[in-house]
Amino acid sequence: MQKIIKIGFSIMMLIAIYNLQGCHRIKGLQPVELKCEDRINPLGIDAAEPRLSWILVSNERGQSQSAFQILVASSEENLKRDFGDLWDTKKVASDQTINIRYRGKKLASGQFCFWKVRVWDKNGVKSPWSEPAKWSMGLLHKSDWKAKWIGLDKAVGTDSPDSEHTRLSARYLRKEFKIHKKIKWATAYICGLGLYELYLNGTKVGDQVLSPGLTEYPKRSLYVTNDITDKIKMGDNAIGVILGNGRYFAPRKNIPTFTVNFGYPKLLLQINIEYKDGSFDTLVSDESWKITADGPITQNNVYDGETYDARKEMPGWNRSGFDDSKWVDVELVKKPSEKISAQMNEPIRVIQSIKPVALTNPKPGVYIFDMGQNMVGWTKLHVKGERGTVVKQRFSEVLRDDGSLYLDNLRSARVTDTYILKGDSVEVFEPRFVYHGFRYVELTGFPGKPNLSTIEGEVVHDDLEKAGDFVCSDSLLNAIYRNAVWGIQGNYRSIPTDCPQRDERMGWLGDRAAGSQGESYIFDISKLYEKWLTDIFDSQKDSGSIPDVCPPYWPLYRDNVSWDGTPILLANMLYLQYADLGVIAKHYNGMKKWVDYMINSYMRDYLMPRDSYGDWCVPPISRKVIHTKDPKRLTPGDYIGTGYFYHITRLMAKFAGLLNKKDDESYFNNLSEKIKDSFNRHFLNMKTIKYVNNTATANVIALAFGLVPHQYLRQIFKNLVEDIKAENYHVCTGVIGLQNINRILTKFGRADLAYKINTQRDYPSYGYMIEKGATTIWELWNGDTADPAMNSRNHVMLLGDLITWFYEDLAGIKSDENNPGFKHIIMKPTLVNGLKFVKAWHKSLYGMIKSEWKIRNNQFDWEITVPCNTYATVYVPAVSEVNVTESGKPVNEAKGVTLIEMKDGSAVFKISSGNYHFISQNFNQL
Ligand code: BGC
Repeated sequence: MQKIIKIGFSIMMLIAIYNLQGCHRIKGLQPVELKCEDRINPLGIDAAEPRLSWILVSNERGQSQSAFQILVASSEENLKRDFGDLWDTKKVASDQTINIRYRGKKLASGQFCFWKVRVWDKNGVKSPWSEPAKWSMGLLHKSDWKAKWIGLDKAVGTDSPDSEHTRLSARYLRKEFKIHKKIKWATAYICGLGLYELYLNGTKVGDQVLSPGLTEYPKRSLYVTNDITDKIKMGDNAIGVILGNGRYFAPRKNIPTFTVNFGYPKLLLQINIEYKDGSFDTLVSDESWKITADGPITQNNVYDGETYDARKEMPGWNRSGFDDSKWVDVELVKKPSEKISAQMNEPIRVIQSIKPVALTNPKPGVYIFDMGQNMVGWTKLHVKGERGTVVKQRFSEVLRDDGSLYLDNLRSARVTDTYILKGDSVEVFEPRFVYHGFRYVELTGFPGKPNLSTIEGEVVHDDLEKAGDFVCSDSLLNAIYRNAVWGIQGNYRSIPTDCPQRDERMGWLGDRAAGSQGESYIFDISKLYEKWLTDIFDSQKDSGSIPDVCPPYWPLYRDNVSWDGTPILLANMLYLQYADLGVIAKHYNGMKKWVDYMINSYMRDYLMPRDSYGDWCVPPISRKVIHTKDPKRLTPGDYIGTGYFYHITRLMAKFAGLLNKKDDESYFNNLSEKIKDSFNRHFLNMKTIKYVNNTATANVIALAFGLVPHQYLRQIFKNLVEDIKAENYHVCTGVIGLQNINRILTKFGRADLAYKINTQRDYPSYGYMIEKGATTIWELWNGDTADPAMNSRNHVMLLGDLITWFYEDLAGIKSDENNPGFKHIIMKPTLVNGLKFVKAWHKSLYGMIKSEWKIRNNQFDWEITVPCNTYATVYVPAVSEVNVTESGKPVNEAKGVTLIEMKDGSAVFKISSGNYHFISQNFNQL
């Protein structure tokens, strides 16, 4: 496993370096990696003016783009002939390479667009045309949909739709059709709710799983576009679809923790065909389809697992010529959502297979596999035995002392996949419509003796592009980082979920308020979070209220500021990391509506006393309890609510300014000033110069959001340092304090404290989790001893700003708020005693950024890469700039390097794009 990761990492680095430097023949600039809506050659785009981007590569330092020309053509031939019949921008003087809106001829539904770009470098030298790229449009208008929603709106067979643990068998649908003419292209648009698998002539279409993405169904459902040109043949063809429940048909009913039920599974499918003779055809889901609920998947429930009875297989059901006389006619059913939109975020895929590392046999007939890693997905089971043999697998994160599964922390989730053999040769089983979060797999009923090849672990999550890696000289920080990556990726399920294993798996807003920024360094999360913002505003009530979990499958609208204000923080993150003003513009009204609603409903004397969760999961002294009751450790809710609301109004003022909404800008500026005044009037004790009960979280909030009057900054920071000292340099904040603590300590010059807290190995600390065998991050600091009621071993909220701190402060790779998306990179590594080297890379929309520093013999050695068309301000720790060389030359002779100033123990340079190697002699070592 480790090996796979290492190989993966090296390949990524190679690709990265190639991307960065391009091949050695490149003169000037070359545009590569053309993307439409941040995806390579995407199908089914439903933005009328899709955004285009590319990356520039060059061998030279200081290269930038002075102009570009984009050609978009309606055919490959036209593009080859350099005929941009849809859009020819001609030469545009501009350095823009990201978020360029298509402004050509109006695009029709289903249309294919072929495009390329060439650029002029800073000297006016023209590049060759890029490699061609393409995208296709989705179905843009309601009237494009000829298909009808079909399904079976009732329980059948063994279904038990109203029990607490609801139970439904999968629905199988089929339809045959004939093709008489040669096909030019055929596209299938499908929305199967909750989840679908589509087959054409017996083979699965697409490699996505658990599709489509989750949404607030009454408002919107997502369709997926597939190119099926090669799958259709002359003569007889058949379409087959399997529908599972996902979250559409509620997994839980009639109990306090019920989930919202949207109805029975249903399908909308349309295949648009263009023949070589220029004529068109459309095949649709309609009343002529057949359905059965009597197939091999006899039940699927996302929390409880899937049952597959192979004896009930229907060989050939998804090919032509199958006898479906026992199937019934489908019902035309009500459309599920106001809107149907294209899924523009990356699909979920099986990303990696891992082999178990150990197998035990704690009781006769009970086998336990250890996957060596707390992972999310399912297993692929290989089994041979007699027909009718029932093999069960159950999944857990932890084992009991006796070696059996520990299931208490999964609450009511039964996490059981059952396979009933048909009695063939070797049978292979993977579930289709469920997933689990687990390290251990219990196998029972297995015929014979299993071995380590009996199961494989299929790692399943959103297929996001890897965007970074981080490694340093501290093995504990590396282990924490590694665990964080596993946790983060495992919780991507077309939304960021809280956990992947128990009967919850919800998109809790507050968990990602700050963490998302860190995630953006590891994965390209732009489309995922853009989608989640759409989900959040789809879920906004008419009143303006925003749910605490989104989609609100638990309908919780508690108006808790620090959770529900998250979309505003996320929009800011997307702007900072991806320069995406479009998202802010799209949701500005929704954000403002929420702010207004909160003011009108709850604000008094400019305080915002709305808080339900407090500083969630402060480490308690007692190892048994989930939440501390100690008032000295809990930050008052009205303080948290007001602090966060202040921050939110500051962001709203910023957004209004960016969108040129002058009145709103001054409104939010005035409002935030009043909140700040009131905050300090109410919460700052002028005698002691302490905020409320002086918790670390209280101090972090005031410092991070800029609420502290200037003259008290030093004192408040001192208070924070004392809080940390009092906890013997261990973590002493919950989710709220964690969102900013590392950055605040670093900003005020005490990165050493952040380092100390993050490298502890005893309770409470990340190191403690690792000492106890964690391979992901826990929900609770005392996850090994606390009550199981809320005790996931795969939660990411405790990460707070840790990953951001790794990249921005330790590695020194940071986006500039005034020139976002890494157009201007701030490279300011923070040195802490004990850290000997840091190596990190982050692939921004402009390309590869690299920071690799090491300290040797009182020499600071730093290799940097800055992508073409961007520039960086770099802070080289130094006593004086004369002690600094770049690629062996004095800095005043180095190409692309300009000294700005000496500041706070660093020589500050402006550098243009390219690779640099700085060495600072006798720098002021800490
Ligand atoms: C979830 C958390 C969430 C919290 C808020 C928990 O059950 O797992 O991730 O933020 O509730 O109350």
